[in-house]
Amino acid sequence: MKKILVTGGAGFIGSHLCERLLNEGNEVVCLDNYFSGKKENVVALMSNPYFELVRHDVTMPFFAEVDEIYNLACPASPIYYQYNPIKTVKTSVMGAINMLGLAKRVKAKILQASTSEVYGDPLVHPQPETYWGNVNPIGARSSYDEGKRCAETLFVNYHSQNGVKIKIARIFNTYGPRMSVNDGRVISNFIVQALRNEDITIYGDGKQTRSFMYVDDLVDALIRLMDSPDEFTGPVNLGNPCEYSMLELASKVIELTKSRSKLVYFPLPEDDPLQRKPDISLAKKFLGGWEPKVMLEDGLKKTIDSFEHILIR
Ligand code: NAD
Ligand code: UDP
Repeated sequence: MKKILVTGGAGFIGSHLCERLLNEGNEVVCLDNYFSGKKENVVALMSNPYFELVRHDVTMPFFAEVDEIYNLACPASPIYYQYNPIKTVKTSVMGAINMLGLAKRVKAKILQASTSEVYGDPLVHPQPETYWGNVNPIGARSSYDEGKRCAETLFVNYHSQNGVKIKIARIFNTYGPRMSVNDGRVISNFIVQALRNEDITIYGDGKQTRSFMYVDDLVDALIRLMDSPDEFTGPVNLGNPCEYSMLELASKVIELTKSRSKLVYFPLPEDDPLQRKPDISLAKKFLGGWEPKVMLEDGLKKTIDSFEHILIR
């Protein structure tokens, strides 16, 4: 039985990861400050004696004897990470320093939840890990993008300088049950609006693209990455390469929910990337033949079901 720390474990992805790690027979310590996550996401796990929930902020040091650390703590939705950008940088940078320090001290393997945002508004398409990105260091998204880029820098240097065993996952847009109703990201926004027959908010002309991965596929990849040979540190792209425009996504959501919603247009937020699609050759090669299995339509159906439950309650 491994003892595993998941920071940001009460968030959307973290809660699915905690559940899966417990189901595989591990002991899980879930650490969260509940900024964008909530206890409700992990309440079903609390009856498991091998699950421990700790209220803690990763900008402060934390000590625990663990074998592995998944560092997910950081708000991921633009609305949340732009609410207090200084705190977002602290969470990424000081959080990485504190968790890497812990990993060094207890000789734990540590995985960083990095992001496709390290590529910014990419000029190379699809994005391979070798692309250095096109990031505005002083723009609206910079607290998140540059914080995550600095965290990657810290990871590779703790590895080369101190021999810490690291893994860096560059996660592309991921969705599924337990995203917050007011999360602000596109899939949850569109589904909630469609289920309420409210206007669907398209930012810009809706022709910008994203590639959406269902959360189960991501959790599978994260665990495979943690279990991969020590020499394979990443960064590695984790995403579903099927690419959709926001207009295509809106019409799929409307069709699946049988909604009467109409599209309304708002200005495109500052520095909103125009296109995004992962090159996942590296993940396929090094993660035991991993590739996403859940098609957008199937993942959307499951996510819509979960939101229907929440909105009815
Ligand atoms: P989320 O906001 O649901 O989860 C983040 C969790 O971290 C929340 O529970 C939040 O309360 C917690 N947190 C935030 N600041 C903290 C702090 N200072 N100390 C302790 N806990 C803190 O977002 P998510 O979608 O589950 O994302 C999880 C991770 O994956 C994040 O690091 C995010 O950057 C990364 N990621 C997510 C996506 C995606 O599409 N969902 C894409 C790329 C990267
Ligand atoms: N978006 C939109 N309507 C919304 C929310 C988002 O058109 O109600 C767009 C947003 O401008 C972006 C895309 O959807 O182009 C994905 O946004 P999200 O915040 O989900 O993720 P990110 O931009 O971080 O990839």
